Amino acid sequence: MNRSGKLRVAVVGAGAAGLCAARHILSRAESFEPPVVLEQSARVGGTWYYEERVGTSDDGRLIHSSMYRDLRTNLPKEVMMFPDFPFDSHLPSFLTHWDVQQYLEAYCKSHDITPHIKFNTMVEEVKPISMETDKGGPVRWEVISRGMHGGHSTQTFDSVFICSGHYSVPHLPSIPGIEHFKGKVMHSHSYRCPEPFAHQSVVVLGAGASGVDISFELAQAKAQVILSHKTALPFSLPLEIQQAPPVVKVLDNGSLFFQDGSVAHAQVLLLCTGYSYHFPFLCPKRLGLEVQHHLVAPLYKYLVLPAFPSLFFIGVCKRICPFLHFHYQIQFALAVLDGTVQLPSHELMKEDAERERQRKTQMGVQVKHLLQMDSDQWDYYVSLATIAGLPPPNPVIQSLYEEVGRQRQANPQAYRKINYRLVNATEWQLLSAPSEQ
Ligand code: FAD
Repeated sequence: MNRSGKLRVAVVGAGAAGLCAARHILSRAESFEPPVVLEQSARVGGTWYYEERVGTSDDGRLIHSSMYRDLRTNLPKEVMMFPDFPFDSHLPSFLTHWDVQQYLEAYCKSHDITPHIKFNTMVEEVKPISMETDKGGPVRWEVISRGMHGGHSTQTFDSVFICSGHYSVPHLPSIPGIEHFKGKVMHSHSYRCPEPFAHQSVVVLGAGASGVDISFELAQAKAQVILSHKTALPFSLPLEIQQAPPVVKVLDNGSLFFQDGSVAHAQVLLLCTGYSYHFPFLCPKRLGLEVQHHLVAPLYKYLVLPAFPSLFFIGVCKRICPFLHFHYQIQFALAVLDGTVQLPSHELMKEDAERERQRKTQMGVQVKHLLQMDSDQWDYYVSLATIAGLPPPNPVIQSLYEEVGRQRQANPQAYRKINYRLVNATEWQLLSAPSEQ
């Protein structure tokens, strides 16, 4: 806190979450100093800032975005938007990454966030500098950052919002014998477009959102695609895409060996195996934080580290409406900081996080899926909204989210051709169905 009694907040990252944090901090000028947003790249947008390049940038930064050239959003703009900032009404429901990037730039401009962003600045360390939490004393945070063009800076803050995203560090499964594979092994993080794969045999490993979409793109570009995955898909695939169970090993002659004993030669093994949580600027041991490739714990309300309640993890959950999620988490966190919301004690928050983990485990949720929300997200938003005194999300958002989920399952190739319109807080309307295109 500075002499004026206002709190100083650092925001790591200027993707959608970081911009949302900055926007809400700026609108609470009576309690907060303008935020300091630290962004390693030269642009806002985070993962929506598409870079054709893969690997590293000229200044040695790892390319952050996992977008591919022809990606269309899997949520319609009516569900994706920040509740207080609609997308351009002329856009179709399902957007290109360029549309979303433009939207985030417009959001940034509209809220005059840019002057508060330090671009080309990588956060290298975030550490608590007073350990008085047990006595109820405030912890401050030292944030050490490095300019991508040289120079270091150390600054002190009352709170840090971690908005660094979690779709950038590929999760690479260990496949015995992979060293014998003679073709190219790559992760979807480095996939940009299908043309280089035309007439090649490609085994796509993993049938999550990216695995399925990329298989469609590759098949259309005349690659021979085998989609290798664990569970039965709730939809049928076009005949051009063969299916196989998981790859369990690579044989000495370089062929891929599947779980059912079948074997295939391939020129490319494309791993669509998801991403790992990665916070290289934190010391998890010191913070009492468990970071596995698929889990960050313990987090009270999926947001607050019980031992350090001024460090907020924004958007670590999966299967959510990300922008809506940020909107509620950030305003809840600010209400905690300005004293509007009183958090339970450290112990009670830890117990609550553990109870939530047990609840999911007893329902049969595997550890790797503990941060997936899906239908749980609506009660979660209502709970954050109620505690922080915010309006809950309009029921129409849940209703349309569920409808799009049904359409995606029924027809994963065509569901994006549909356009929707929000009629009011509870009703949406279908504007055009695939057959009408
Ligand atoms: P990011 O967008 O990843 O931004 C994080 C920012 O932090 C980046 O700018 C990064 O450079 C910066 N950063 C990271 N580390 C540091 C550091 N140490 N120092 C300084 N800066 C740092 N969501 C949807 O709503 N709809 C969709 O259709 C959709 N499709 C998706 C498709 C793909 C392929 C992927 C990967 C994601 C998709 N998402 C979609 C989810 C998407 O990640 C979220 O919508 C949202 O953009 C995440 O925002 P974020 O700010 O949390 O993270």
